[in-house]
Amino acid sequence: MTFSIHGLPVARGIAIGRAVLMASSRVDVAHYFIDPTQIESEITRVRVGRNAVVDEIHRLQLTIAGMGPKEAPHELAALLDVHLMLLQDEELITGVKHWISERLYNAEWALTTQLEVLARQFDDMEDEYLRERKADLEQVAERILRYMKGVGSPVAPPASRRSSGARQQDLLLADDSIDVPLVLIAHDLSPADMLQFKQSVFAGFCTDVGGKTSHTAIVARSMDIPAVVGARSASHLVRQDDWVIIDGDAGVMIVDPSPIILAEYGFKQRQAELERGRLSRLRHTPAVTLDGQKVELLANIEMPDDAPGALLAGAVGVGLFRSEFLFMGRKGDLPGEEEQYQAYRKAVEGMQGLPVTIRTIDVGADKQLDDTVRDAAHLNPALGLRAIRWSLADPAMFLTQLRAILRAAAHGQVSLLIPMLAHASEIRQTLSLVDFARAELDNRGLLYGPVKLGAMIEIPAAALTLKIFLKYFDFLSVGTNDLIQYTLAIDRADESVAHLYDPCHPAVLRLVADTIAECNAQGKGVSVCGEMAGDITLTRLLLGMGLRSFSMHPAQILAVKQEVLRADASRLVPWARQVLESEDPAAMLGA
Ligand code: PEP
Ligand code: MG
Repeated sequence: MTFSIHGLPVARGIAIGRAVLMASSRVDVAHYFIDPTQIESEITRVRVGRNAVVDEIHRLQLTIAGMGPKEAPHELAALLDVHLMLLQDEELITGVKHWISERLYNAEWALTTQLEVLARQFDDMEDEYLRERKADLEQVAERILRYMKGVGSPVAPPASRRSSGARQQDLLLADDSIDVPLVLIAHDLSPADMLQFKQSVFAGFCTDVGGKTSHTAIVARSMDIPAVVGARSASHLVRQDDWVIIDGDAGVMIVDPSPIILAEYGFKQRQAELERGRLSRLRHTPAVTLDGQKVELLANIEMPDDAPGALLAGAVGVGLFRSEFLFMGRKGDLPGEEEQYQAYRKAVEGMQGLPVTIRTIDVGADKQLDDTVRDAAHLNPALGLRAIRWSLADPAMFLTQLRAILRAAAHGQVSLLIPMLAHASEIRQTLSLVDFARAELDNRGLLYGPVKLGAMIEIPAAALTLKIFLKYFDFLSVGTNDLIQYTLAIDRADESVAHLYDPCHPAVLRLVADTIAECNAQGKGVSVCGEMAGDITLTRLLLGMGLRSFSMHPAQILAVKQEVLRADASRLVPWARQVLESEDPAAMLGA
């Protein structure tokens, strides 16, 4: 039966495929397709892993048989029996074989997929004792996975198998079960999880939680695959392998679509492909308004490897390199100066002489370094030790990053951008650490280059004290994602208040407009690098406010360029003033 689930649209486009349900804890398991010739060896890998765990349990049983009830309570023996029973369960084995031979999933992926299927069955059990056996099943699977990891994978992951929209539709109609697109459904994915999916096999995804500008959504947008977040109970309502449609424009997932709905979405998908093709012709067209105003369209990137994609999309530089992604998912083993230097240098060289703005680490709030380290200790992590506050609390770590960035600046045009500043004292402390980092490099005789210094305006206090910021910095960059969050007191990652997260709130627009105007008046550079910069419904308004530098995901650049090419910037000025005075600016934008 067809039904739809509503969430928040975060990354545009339509994806049609089969659902792959995944617990967030399983995301670090490798997901790739094997070659049909590898089916037997992959099945053998799981079998060998399972047998090794069975042997381990037999050995444990023998050990505890010789112990007294104090050292080895009766429950322990019973638990081992349950684990053995689960390991020998036919449904586990046949399911894993099915995913490997019918779908060509690699061994680990097949095992975790079957685990999800069985976990659902446990969830549905009436008997509480049986329901609780789900945890045992997870432990058993975990042990097999650990064993397989120790042994290593003999199969190299082949290139990903993402299909184009038109091809997806052909495949769908043919219902060729091993070659259909896959859509990932999860309760939650952290920004670090999302990084794992950058080169993944998934054609779209949907999560239960998350807001429109949560970092998970931001990474999804950078991957340019259709996505919906904040779909609440999606991961409970969808079953493994269901057919689903992700409508990333409307923020809807349609489950088990009827043939008529499928045909309609297939049509929409083809239209979107045509539109993309049309836009791609603008790649080499300079972004100039009808009245001759030059506009700079820059890219937001998360990793040095994103640089070629930014160039391909026609970016004239990087306006925001979110350096914190280099630090995530490393289980406490943070990158040292040399590793960071090489990464920044790679991004700088990857941009082939174009300017690159590197933002110093911004962790905290919804961006934790590790999934295991959830910030439970602090009630309001978004108001806590985040971004520059985190850096200033650990000067050795911060100096390491500053030295690495300064050294990378010897290889191209680099700007250094500081997130979340609010106080003059923080500014002074930061700048003296930059000087100190330079002095350290001098002492060590290491080469470094000049950098322009910029501050992010993302706390209302900063937007209201621009003169202080402009006294110290060469340029400002407006981080509208946080500016909206902190102006309206709306957690950007919380779907339950997402309807109140409003880029067009008059207070937000006022702060953005004043920042642009003050920088322009003082001849200082100003850019917007939050999600507002890539929203085509806001391009004309930002141009009317005087903005000439926009930084966004590469996938949004061409659509924004089209808006720029159609705009008459001088005529937009009086209109933008009216919008700013309005009680309901969104109504004037048609947004
Ligand atoms: C912002 O806050 O707008 C911004 C660009 O930074 P981030 O989204 O990484 O917090
Ligand atoms: Mg921010």
